[in-house]
Parts: sequence; structure tokens; C-alpha cells
Amino acid sequence: MELTKKQKQVKKDNRNYYLKNRKIIIIKSRIYNLANKENMRVWKREYFRAYKKLDKLKVNARNIAERNVPLTGKCVNCKINNATDRHHLDYSKPREVLLLCKICHSNIHTQLNSNGGD
Ligand SMILES: [Zn+2]
Ligand SMILES: [Zn+2]
Repeated sequence: MELTKKQKQVKKDNRNYYLKNRKIIIIKSRIYNLANKENMRVWKREYFRAYKKLDKLKVNARNIAERNVPLTGKCVNCKINNATDRHHLDYSKPREVLLLCKICHSNIHTQLNSNGGD
């Protein structure tokens, strides 16, 4: 089927439109990728900072608890086994620990998905 002159022109316009848009789409996606990379970098940096801070708090809390809270008596959870572990609910309150046995301690951490204390 032979295209009319007008149809040809429309086709050409569409193609130009597509090519123009394609350029814009490519540029946009490039910008998006750049922005995303930047975000990723910021995110990683923030995450690392927070992680380091948490680690410091954790170590500090553990040391204070070891010095101040003796491991005596039974596990507060099962009340059967001897307490062998100190579990922190809040690292900013290093003396506030739960005295637990190994089994209950690891159960708590499984429930907390390992990020709700130590
Ligand atoms: Zn226990
Ligand atoms: Zn714990």
C-alpha cells in the first residue's frame, strides 16, 4: 500500500517525536541513576555511621553490665537454667539487663530477628 504524502509526513513526525523523546528518556534515566547512586552512597554512609554508633553503645553497655550486674541465680525467662547471659533491652540503659540462660537468650534474639538488643 502506497502511503500518501501526508501519511509519510506523519510517520516522519512520529519518528522524530520518538527520537526526541528517546533522548529525553535516556537523559532522564541517566539522571535518575546518578541520583540513585548518590542516595546509595549517602545511605551507606549513614548506615555505617549508625552501625558504628550502635556498636560502640553495645560494647559500652556490655562492659558496664559485666562490671555491675553479676550473673547470679536462674534465668528470668525459664527459671530453670542458671543465668549465663546478660540481655540488654536498651543500650542507653547499660545496667538494665535481663539475666538469661543461653537457650532463652538465643530464642529472644531469634524472635527479635537479631536487631533488638544484645
Ligand atoms: Zn532460660
Ligand atoms: Zn541479648
